[in-house]
Amino acid sequence: MICSVITAKSILTKSNLPVSDYSANPYTGCAHACKYCYASFMKRFTNHPEDWGSFVDVKTWPPLKHPEKYADKEIFLSSVTDPYQPLEAEYKRTRALLEELQGSGARISIATKSDLVLRDIDLIRTFPGARVSWSINTLDEDFRAEMDNAVSIERRLSAMKAFHDAGVRTTCFISPIFPGITDAIAIIERAKDICNLVWLENLNLRGDYRKCILDWIHEKHPELDGLYHAIYSQHDRTYWYELDGMMRDYTAKLGLPYLRNEDSMTREFSAPPAVVNYFFHDEITR
Ligand code: SF4
Repeated sequence: MICSVITAKSILTKSNLPVSDYSANPYTGCAHACKYCYASFMKRFTNHPEDWGSFVDVKTWPPLKHPEKYADKEIFLSSVTDPYQPLEAEYKRTRALLEELQGSGARISIATKSDLVLRDIDLIRTFPGARVSWSINTLDEDFRAEMDNAVSIERRLSAMKAFHDAGVRTTCFISPIFPGITDAIAIIERAKDICNLVWLENLNLRGDYRKCILDWIHEKHPELDGLYHAIYSQHDRTYWYELDGMMRDYTAKLGLPYLRNEDSMTREFSAPPAVVNYFFHDEITR
């Protein structure tokens, strides 16, 4: 792993994401090296010739001026890196930012594939409306290990339970859904009692990783070649409509709200999780 420390002009960036006001990326690059990483385009903004996933820049930044100005603002960690990737154990840059923001009244939303976030549970729970999400797109540890270098699914679920038990809102982010591989219902069955929200997001293949994923499917699951060709070359939405119908039936049977493009922070903590269908927001809609 190539690792260097760099100085950023600032750490908070105005966000155009639908669910946050600012985003913060304490690292550039990500050692989790997911094959489908949507953030891999960031490589072109670095001086690194190495492959995405094999370098990480550790950021330092000037102290936040007037942290109280972020009161009631939602800050998302992180949009193009994992704030709890392994280097965070040593460098504690995410923790440093949380310490700067503590008491400001900012709301924080953390997305990770790690359980290192457990280290900061006491700090995170001091933020109003804090929430933490884990990406889980399979219960098959072999598939998981083929796709990322992050911790096991079981460790992610254990961390989710610990936060939920501590009264922090948790999200099971079922993303990216691999057609013919991801079993969303099986994942919800495991997570529904330890999360407040489930997000469903389809795999998109817009980035440079498109060839890598399609080659992997061809090598490991040639029986799915036709399905992937239909979805990603012919823009056939049938698979997603059928999955949408299946999820609608399943959530109705369990009495779970099935929503579209909402994140329902206003629901009671003890209420069963809402399931948000976030399909059809990318090339599949075109
Ligand atoms: S954890 Fe997120 S940012 Fe890191 S490689 Fe995977 S998808 Fe990319």
